[in-house]
Amino acid sequence: MNKITNHMPTAELQALDAAHHMHPFTAGAELAKAGARVITSADGVMLTDSEGKTLLDAMAGLWCVNIGYGRNELAEAAARQMRELPYYNTFFMTTHVPVIALSAKLAELAPEGFNNVFYAGSGSEANDTNIRMVRHYWSAKGQPEKKIIISRKNGYHGSTLGGASLGGMIPMHQQGGLPIPDIHHIDQPNWWAEGGDMSPEDFGLERARQLEAAINHYGEDKIAAFIAEPVQGAGGVIVPPETYWPEIQRICDAHDILLIADEVICGFGRTGNWFGSTTYNIKPHIMTIAKGLSSGYAPIGGSLVCDEVADVINNAGDFNHGYTYSGHPVSAAVALENLRILEEEGIVDTVRDETAPYLKEKWEALTDHPLIGQASISGMMASVAMTPHKESRAAFKTSGALGYYCRTRCFDNGLVMRHVGDRMIISPPLVIKKDEIDTLMDRAVKSLDETYAWAKSEGHM
Ligand code: PMP
Repeated sequence: MNKITNHMPTAELQALDAAHHMHPFTAGAELAKAGARVITSADGVMLTDSEGKTLLDAMAGLWCVNIGYGRNELAEAAARQMRELPYYNTFFMTTHVPVIALSAKLAELAPEGFNNVFYAGSGSEANDTNIRMVRHYWSAKGQPEKKIIISRKNGYHGSTLGGASLGGMIPMHQQGGLPIPDIHHIDQPNWWAEGGDMSPEDFGLERARQLEAAINHYGEDKIAAFIAEPVQGAGGVIVPPETYWPEIQRICDAHDILLIADEVICGFGRTGNWFGSTTYNIKPHIMTIAKGLSSGYAPIGGSLVCDEVADVINNAGDFNHGYTYSGHPVSAAVALENLRILEEEGIVDTVRDETAPYLKEKWEALTDHPLIGQASISGMMASVAMTPHKESRAAFKTSGALGYYCRTRCFDNGLVMRHVGDRMIISPPLVIKKDEIDTLMDRAVKSLDETYAWAKSEGHM
């Protein structure tokens, strides 16, 4: 077979891809017919495909390329580490310098009292760790019956058995017999879709109090932990009402359960602070991290564990858990370099003080568009809800059809914007500049205008 390169015709690459590559979250046969878009290179916030078309990546890959594409320093850090020590494990009383350095750095950046990291290869794996760790924690404290984990419908925590079980995505549960036992889901704080006649404030309290109802229902002595994303990402960038997190915190404090903040998207600057927990004043016991930790340049995830939990785990004998790639030296070296850039270039501060407020003003003005009912934003993650009737917050009968159409228009207009049902969502690289935000908005508005015209002509409005 000839060597497969960037220079091959797109159709040939697509045919080979369709013949041999099974894609995540994709209907394989449909993709084979359409042909996958082949991305060949990227720089800053821009992607280039095999046809030479450029696209502004308003999703930062999968919410992960926080420092943007094309940072040579990370390539150098990876190459240096591969030459020096490409792999060694952290099992059996061994360690290595990159993982020591990264752990110390994370302890410095994390909120007070978070001095411990358990590594994984991804966010999903880290959440699997969390399930085992919180149950082991209670067992070590003489309460092995505290096993139940409460999470939320339409939350996302990964794709492994544990991660998908914690998540509240029905189409995922329907495949493979999920959730696993002892995981229960309460309703999400999505006021736009589910708030009815309640004010956002009352609705936030009502949804938070479902946690207390669940604790009372199952019994505090049976509940290990509650897990949630500070802002739901894959669920559609759902920013909770202001009343939600303070009430969740009150409930967690009042009952003897652990709080896990899944910071896989929100961490490392996405909401304008290093952690979403800081933005929303959440005091968790464990934080799941991945994605922005390495800006996606190398696979790495982990659990940031507070001292109280780490002390119990560390004094309970062997924790019989770990991955071949827990603390992989190349990923650790890349992550460390990524954190250096985020910190030294003041990227998180720039998001908080300059670019996120700039985006917010423009994003919220989208509610003037005839198709847009709600605009939500937290730092550099944002969404808009499309509706046929703003007053009643009605949903389209053909759920997802407009979203899908709009996403296609975005691609054609040189913008990667994703849809979750009929919500359009963005999560651009944190390094996006003001003029690039202008371009993003121009392309988004053009795509929304085209979607609106199409929706009217098709009788959706
Ligand atoms: N948690 C959250 C909040 C996520 O958004 C994701 C990925 N989108 C995960 C966990 C899973 O991470 P990974 O895909 O790296 O396994």
